[in-house]
Amino acid sequence: MNRYDEIASNLAAVQERIAKAAALAGRSEDEITLIAVTKTFPASDVDILSQLGISNFGENRDSDAAPKAASVAGTWHFQGQIQSNKLKSITSWSNVIHSLDEMKHFEIIEKIAPHSLEIFCQVSLDGSTGRGGASTEKLHELATAIGNSSRHRLVGLMAVAPLGVQPLEAFSQLSLIHKAFMVDFPKADKLSAGMSGDFEEAIALGATHIRIGSSILGSR
Ligand SMILES: *Cc1c(COP(=O)(O)O)cnc(C)c1O
Repeated sequence: MNRYDEIASNLAAVQERIAKAAALAGRSEDEITLIAVTKTFPASDVDILSQLGISNFGENRDSDAAPKAASVAGTWHFQGQIQSNKLKSITSWSNVIHSLDEMKHFEIIEKIAPHSLEIFCQVSLDGSTGRGGASTEKLHELATAIGNSSRHRLVGLMAVAPLGVQPLEAFSQLSLIHKAFMVDFPKADKLSAGMSGDFEEAIALGATHIRIGSSILGSR
């Protein structure tokens, strides 16, 4: 099978699973944004996805992402670990940041971002920062700072299920954290959760943005 047909067939299968999971949860598919995670894959794959109607792309590493974002039009999402010295570049090619978890990084974004960004705060579900994410205590301060920004928009929360925790359990916890969060930040109603291994569970628990790589593009 050529690469186009391979990606088309994987994508169709994923879209069918999304539709089923949404229906099971009594949700409309339109509430769910599929972000194709193109990290480590070439710009030619992003181009194929674009021809197949995908317009949201997710990346983890600035150096890998910048040239792809320059060559394929779309909404570009950054979801990787943030390094201060990369923020100038990250904020130049990305439209949405999913992995903000430190105040010092937001302060840099406020100073140097060349355009306005949509921002998800990443929350850690197990208190450890190994896979990124602020503690629920720190989250409030960070969200308040973004909420006070005149340029950038706080859109919601993002999380990754901790290793060794059942996805349904992790995303139930996330859903509770998000509901409590929305009492203070009612406009931050988006929830970025779910990857290839657990997106159906994430949809069941309210995810509005799912980030899928390997199920569409193959193993890395
Ligand atoms: C790599 C990655 C994904 C996509 O993972 P797959 O298992 O390939 O679908 C989603 N979110 C984050 C934060 C990632 O690092």
